Amino acid sequence: MALTMDPALGEIAGADIEILDGEIVGIGPSLDAPGADVIDGSNTITLPGFVDSHWHIWGTLLRGVVGDGPDHGWFATKGRLGGHFTSDDFATGVRLGMAEGISAGVTTVHDWSHNIMCYEDAEANVAVHRELGTRVHFSYSAPSAHPSMPMEKMREILAKGGVLPDAVMDFGNPRRIAEEWVPSSEDLLTVGVAVRGPARSTPEVYREEWRLAREQGLTISMHCAGTEAEVERIRQVEVLESDGLLGDDMLLAHCLYISPIEREHLAGHSIPISMSPLAELRLGMGAPPINEHIAAGVPVSLSLDTTAISATADVFQAMRVAVGLQSIATKTATALTPRRVLEMTTIDGARALGLEEVVGSLSIGKRADLIMIRTDQLNMAPVRDPAVAVVHSAQPSNVDTVMIDGRILKWKGELTTVDVPTVISEADDSLRRLCERAGFVPG
Ligand SMILES: [Zn+2]
Repeated sequence: MALTMDPALGEIAGADIEILDGEIVGIGPSLDAPGADVIDGSNTITLPGFVDSHWHIWGTLLRGVVGDGPDHGWFATKGRLGGHFTSDDFATGVRLGMAEGISAGVTTVHDWSHNIMCYEDAEANVAVHRELGTRVHFSYSAPSAHPSMPMEKMREILAKGGVLPDAVMDFGNPRRIAEEWVPSSEDLLTVGVAVRGPARSTPEVYREEWRLAREQGLTISMHCAGTEAEVERIRQVEVLESDGLLGDDMLLAHCLYISPIEREHLAGHSIPISMSPLAELRLGMGAPPINEHIAAGVPVSLSLDTTAISATADVFQAMRVAVGLQSIATKTATALTPRRVLEMTTIDGARALGLEEVVGSLSIGKRADLIMIRTDQLNMAPVRDPAVAVVHSAQPSNVDTVMIDGRILKWKGELTTVDVPTVISEADDSLRRLCERAGFVPG
């Protein structure tokens, strides 16, 4: 069974999918492809790979130390350990996080790397994606001030390349990544910047950052309206609208508390929102108003935010939580249907990253990024409606095969470009050394 997520093709039982040089060249029953290598798709559901539109993958290392107490929450831990990351820590964290992501069916990721202290950190980050074979939109960002960060820690971060609210981020490094890594990426890498915006930088600074990003052709991503405290202080979308800066080269994360008029601005400019239900719940940020956004015409996709908060890269769990929250909000069981939430995790995610012509659906002419989910397993059988089964029953262990750009990265349940025990032990070593350098005792 193929869930193509292509409106013209729909769902095709017994479909063959023909792939040539990483491109989908045929979809339909009984295709004739002489000499082709054949993958048996019986007892599986094949669908486009998941697209995560907002993931701080570098933070994966911190999963082991983010606890529930106020002194050991995500922001406090990031503030205490973030400035001690080395380029090697970036590599081991991204390798662990992305290996888990691929295993769970994520084929395209928006890697929102907001702790880069030098060019080598950024290189280490994108090099791991190349090593693993991920399709990635890489958003470059320096560590920035956070209210929970003591001044002493701030100075330390500044000394390592961080930025204060009245300083413009370095745009030379993202330009270098675009120049040195994109041309040889076989179109698997695109580059943007993640900015602090009106809530975390001065008007002169954010306006200049918008100008530089657009001058360099870099997409602009920003956290927005994730807390009530932020919108009591400033309404970023309104500010950017009045500055004339909103545009469809932007992506906003969270937007839990935007106003109806801000929603209209986002819809008018086709600016997508990435919602991270697992993180938004765990941090107590609020329930994502997905249906309100969709009803207003704002594009919505899903994301993990960081597995230091979401705890796992389980996209299926994120979809179920998103569905459940809309059910609670509307007191119905069908407010967000399985097919709609699957669109959010595939084609709408691709659209949010400007990749809708490349991936996000199984369509002729698109690149072959797909996953195969087993149906003959205890938590899946008996399957009748494939979308219901994928959204409500599946888990990462049911993902049998993952293909990115025609290359198989997971085969019969095993990752092909990752030595899992090594990745885990290196991440464990990295975290131990990181905590030692920072004098940090996990709580
Ligand atoms: Zn985030």
